[in-house]
Amino acid sequence: MHSPHDPYDPYVRVRGAREHNLKGVDVDIPRDVLAVFTGVSGSGKSSLAFGTVYAEAQRRYFESVAPYARRLIHQVGAPKVGEITGLPPAVSLQQRRSAPTSRSSVGTVTNLSNSLRMLFSRAGDYPRGAERLDSDAFSPNTAAGACPQCHGLGQVHRTTEELLVPDPSLSIREGAIAAWPGAWQGKNLRDLLDALGYDVDRPWRELPAEQREWILFTDEQPVVTVHPVRDADRIQRPYQGTYMSARRYVMKTFSDTKSATLRAKAERFLTSAPCPVCGGSRLRPEALAVTFGGRTIAELAALPLTDLAGLLHGGSETARVLTEDLRSRIAPVVELGLGYLSLDRAAPTLSAGELQRLRLATQLRSGLFGVVYVLDEPSAGLHPADTEALLTVLDRLKTAGNSVFVVEHHLEVVRGADWLVDVGPGAGEHGGRVLYSGPVAELASTEESATARYLFDEAPGPAREVREPRGWLTVGPVTRHNLRAVTAEFPLGAFTAVTGVSGSGKSTLIGELTEEPAGVGRLVRVDQKPIGRTPRSNLATYTGLFDVVRKVFAATDAARERGYGVGRFSFNVAGGRCETCQGEGFVSVELLFLPSTYAPCQECGGARYNPETLQVSYRGRNVAEVLDLTVEDAAAFFADVPAAARSLGTLLDVGLGYLRLGQPATELSGGEAQRIKLASELQRGRRAHTLYLLDEPTTGLHPADVEVLMDRLHGLVDAGHTVVVVEHDMTVVAEADWVIDLGPGGGDRGGRIVAAGPPQRVARAEGSATAPYLARVMP
Ligand code: ADP
Ligand code: ADP
Ligand code: ZN
Ligand code: ZN
Repeated sequence: MHSPHDPYDPYVRVRGAREHNLKGVDVDIPRDVLAVFTGVSGSGKSSLAFGTVYAEAQRRYFESVAPYARRLIHQVGAPKVGEITGLPPAVSLQQRRSAPTSRSSVGTVTNLSNSLRMLFSRAGDYPRGAERLDSDAFSPNTAAGACPQCHGLGQVHRTTEELLVPDPSLSIREGAIAAWPGAWQGKNLRDLLDALGYDVDRPWRELPAEQREWILFTDEQPVVTVHPVRDADRIQRPYQGTYMSARRYVMKTFSDTKSATLRAKAERFLTSAPCPVCGGSRLRPEALAVTFGGRTIAELAALPLTDLAGLLHGGSETARVLTEDLRSRIAPVVELGLGYLSLDRAAPTLSAGELQRLRLATQLRSGLFGVVYVLDEPSAGLHPADTEALLTVLDRLKTAGNSVFVVEHHLEVVRGADWLVDVGPGAGEHGGRVLYSGPVAELASTEESATARYLFDEAPGPAREVREPRGWLTVGPVTRHNLRAVTAEFPLGAFTAVTGVSGSGKSTLIGELTEEPAGVGRLVRVDQKPIGRTPRSNLATYTGLFDVVRKVFAATDAARERGYGVGRFSFNVAGGRCETCQGEGFVSVELLFLPSTYAPCQECGGARYNPETLQVSYRGRNVAEVLDLTVEDAAAFFADVPAAARSLGTLLDVGLGYLRLGQPATELSGGEAQRIKLASELQRGRRAHTLYLLDEPTTGLHPADVEVLMDRLHGLVDAGHTVVVVEHDMTVVAEADWVIDLGPGGGDRGGRIVAAGPPQRVARAEGSATAPYLARVMP
């Protein structure tokens, strides 16, 4: 027997966890295992894994490395937990709040760029007589490496005759040069040309080519004396003016003007084109003169990682060591189904799931051991064909001597765990207890567990009748990213699932559905982008519910007596809000070396309002307390306020009853943001035929939540609308009327429609990576 304070105790022991909805949780989890946290949305999994275990590890770390950070720790608050023993240092790989900066790329996120630069610096082939370059000289983000022409941007703005002169049948006097400024300035330029001897009355297209070239593009700025002709009855004196070509004028305005309107006008006459000096590679010529295996670093960075790995072989000893290191670091990225990405791919164009898996692959080489990794649904965006590889990677982290704690819903990942912590049974107030903690198989006897019902009951649901489409929507031919003239047909009035491995082209295909397509009244994209980027937006502001709440408060007797209108109850305008935090409830704390963090405002304690506003209450609660209610409690509280009840009802319908009304947008996961958007769409009750597009709507959802969501989506189709989802969850795909399977692989190995048809048919399709997994769940 080990006691909690025994240093050899192999367990992380949590006692009295009360973060968020946790009800004094006690749980013991072995170290050095893959432990999976399960439970319905809002049950408290993240509060336990991230809010308690990870937060406590981080707090201890801060205290040990940065004593000056104590004040911050004090402000941010330690997790509400009695005690945790046996806790190793923690590393978190979380999806929410991990927005990368625009200059980062796959290469920088994985550190592979550094290694590739090292390879070029040390083992590249240099032109005869050239000096060896430092590895910095191969980075477009350093002064040493950036192309001097475009400053490392890879693009330059240029203009063309077609843009500057849209209608060549006009003469200069008639306004042929559309890019010229209006009024006096434009007239002046015309008079200067006239004085220079150009014919300003001939149609533009009849002017000799070299004249047109000079007028539009010259870099000369001749000073000319203009002798104005008698203009009606005004007599002007001769004056001197400086001519400036149309290009010069546009470029100057674009780069110098402070007026947004002028800048926008100038931009209409510009196109961006790859920089002529570096060809878009962003690097200076000296760096591009160096090659490895006959290719420049820019060429290698543009290749899919799978292909790059195939080219990295060393001749010299140095090259051998460096290429081996690179290949061994690319391997886990490829294993995690991301071999179609290239190093130069900009990080902001990656999905949250892709980014997390990249970070995960990178961790494999960090050489850390004895830490606990805390992950948030690493299967997000992953095709079932790649789940096995994910488990292998997690297993390797564990074998290297670490603990791996993951919050997951994907049943294959859950089955692969060594240890399971099931939280529940319900969401919010109805959850917050650990129902089971132990090996996976023994969960079966835990009756209360929603997870147990899905994990052990493998019988497919009853067969659904496939709907007859009301018509077809043709999309394409699409040639974009890896799609080559792909044409897809989407059935109208039906439910379509788009499937395929990561990188096969699913998002690219449905991204084409942007215009209001013919035959459809409206297109509604319900994506996972945040509903707001600051703590100022939350679900109440997003859905319009907060407008109703403010009206309710303004209508109370107390508010009327004090003359408080609806604006008084807003935290976004001065008046009722706390001025210290300007209604954010939080202040941002900047800390040396660490990412900036939000800490509760010391003035209002996070309430967001000033004390006078908080004196007004409605049925015993002030506005801050109302914002603190969960959707579920608010639904009871506002049951007799129809406008509020309606929007709260739709939020309950999509399984968000556990969210608090004022929960800042920055704290919501992608899946939650998506369901909020869906709810506010449902609330509008559209009558016109609408096409709803959803990208992996089951992300973050327990199978029990998926069932609820599917009921809503089928309800939309039954009401005559069209639903298209990108999905990896085969139980959802099996319930669709139509499946479009892309692939067969990712990147250049994909981009085709491998199969299309009702799920029964696609489940039998040859050469489809999806078919075997779909077949398993078909009734
Ligand atoms: P899960 O990870 O199981 O989906 P969470 O741990 O995120 O659940 O949420 C559990 C409960 O705690 C929910 O009722 C949720 O609204 C609440 N909660 C989550 N984050 C916060 C927060 N930052 N402040 C207060 N309550 C929160
Ligand atoms: P899926 O949605 O099936 O995961 P995507 O449509 O995102 O696939 O990607 C298909 C291909 O297009 C991949 O090779 C991917 O790297 C490429 N791709 C996707 N988005 C971009 C982008 N913004 N810039 C460049 N390439 C992209
Ligand atoms: Zn350049
Ligand atoms: Zn404040």
